[in-house]
Amino acid sequence: MLYQRSSALFDEAYKYIPGGVNSPVRAFKSVGGVPVFMKSAKGAFMTDADDNTYIDYINSWGPAILGHTHPEVLEAIKKQAENGFSYGTPSELETEIAKLIVENVPNIDQIRMVSSGTEACMSAIRLARGFTGRDKFIKFEGCYHGHSDSFLIKAGSGAATFGNPNSPGVTAGTAKDTLLARYNDIEQVKDLFRHNEGQIAAIIVEPVAGNMGCVLPESNFLQNLRRLCDENGALLIFDEVMTGFRLGFGGAQEVFNVKADLVTYGKVIGGGLPVGAFAGRNEIMDHLAPKGAVYQAGTLSGNPLAMRAGLTTLELIRKDENFYQNINKTTETLDFEIGKILNSKDIQHRINRKGSMMSIFFHINAVSNFDEAAHANHSLFNNFFHFLLKNGIYLPPSGYETWFISDAIKQKEIDRTLEVISQFQYS
Ligand code: PLP
Repeated sequence: MLYQRSSALFDEAYKYIPGGVNSPVRAFKSVGGVPVFMKSAKGAFMTDADDNTYIDYINSWGPAILGHTHPEVLEAIKKQAENGFSYGTPSELETEIAKLIVENVPNIDQIRMVSSGTEACMSAIRLARGFTGRDKFIKFEGCYHGHSDSFLIKAGSGAATFGNPNSPGVTAGTAKDTLLARYNDIEQVKDLFRHNEGQIAAIIVEPVAGNMGCVLPESNFLQNLRRLCDENGALLIFDEVMTGFRLGFGGAQEVFNVKADLVTYGKVIGGGLPVGAFAGRNEIMDHLAPKGAVYQAGTLSGNPLAMRAGLTTLELIRKDENFYQNINKTTETLDFEIGKILNSKDIQHRINRKGSMMSIFFHINAVSNFDEAAHANHSLFNNFFHFLLKNGIYLPPSGYETWFISDAIKQKEIDRTLEVISQFQYS
């Protein structure tokens, strides 16, 4: 494949945009080489500026669960655009999507829309602090909750990829209120509660971690977090920016049967347009302005185009009673078949998978936390990534990221993916 135009576009972008990209992981710094500039996306495929076509396993980092540019979502956005792009007033559409979500997701009474997952998580922490009157919160190493200051401490995703999970610019004063524990290590969480009695407002957790590669909660981990929060008067926040409407319509709360006090959303909820949200029970959500004293706002919050894209996406998912079964099955097939091929080549690996999220770790038997994810062979992942890329398969450009399978990926795309992987030579 030729990347002449992508290469030229990257050089040009580099002059005007820091690092040439608007979100760090897109720069291919971890895997090396020049980032591919896309110009269109439809169904299971993306096409780059040099007219190369790829089967897409990122799907915009999760939002494109139906595949790209779904015709019904496209039509709904076009129709909405005729009626205005942004009102800055309430609209009926906002209640429609809120109602659909509240009535079909367990354990939430109210939902507030924002414009990104970062905003959702940052607002949920503020609300938890306002509600409990406490300052500190617990997060897990390798989990990513957006780029707000208090989360950039041993953060996952791009922060892990670039080896600087603690960002300059985060003050010591901010960092001191973020307490860290190892993912899946309940003893560390107990210790933190013991040493910070009466000071911890919340635990925030990715119920399936997707930002150190895909890492699953071990049995009872989430249940034990629930119990410790109850025993210590803290709130449990599920960051479902990745898992919400992906593991099931009710997200991880439904799949693991664990109730969170606050839940954050992003990605699928906006159907590809910029949307985030946070939700919870009345007794907590009533503390938000204008009803309560905890301030939170947004010029484009509840934007009609974004609400229409999100609502149409969620309605399409709900209409198809086999939706989750189908994408989960596709992902399971990929997992098993890729595993078979890698075994036949004696390439030691571990595939972690939940629902339609998965990732491959090379040269390691099990990955249940960030340290283990870091011990995988990332340079082998990088070779694997580039081999697939040049054969028209687009994976996330880092071993610390999760693949998101869309409903547009069918047997034909799976077969092509397996054919390419079977040609991969480990050297
Ligand atoms: N929380 C999780 C679990 C995420 O994966 C992400 C982004 O990938 C965020 C929060 C931040 O969302 P956004 O990038 O929309 O700000």
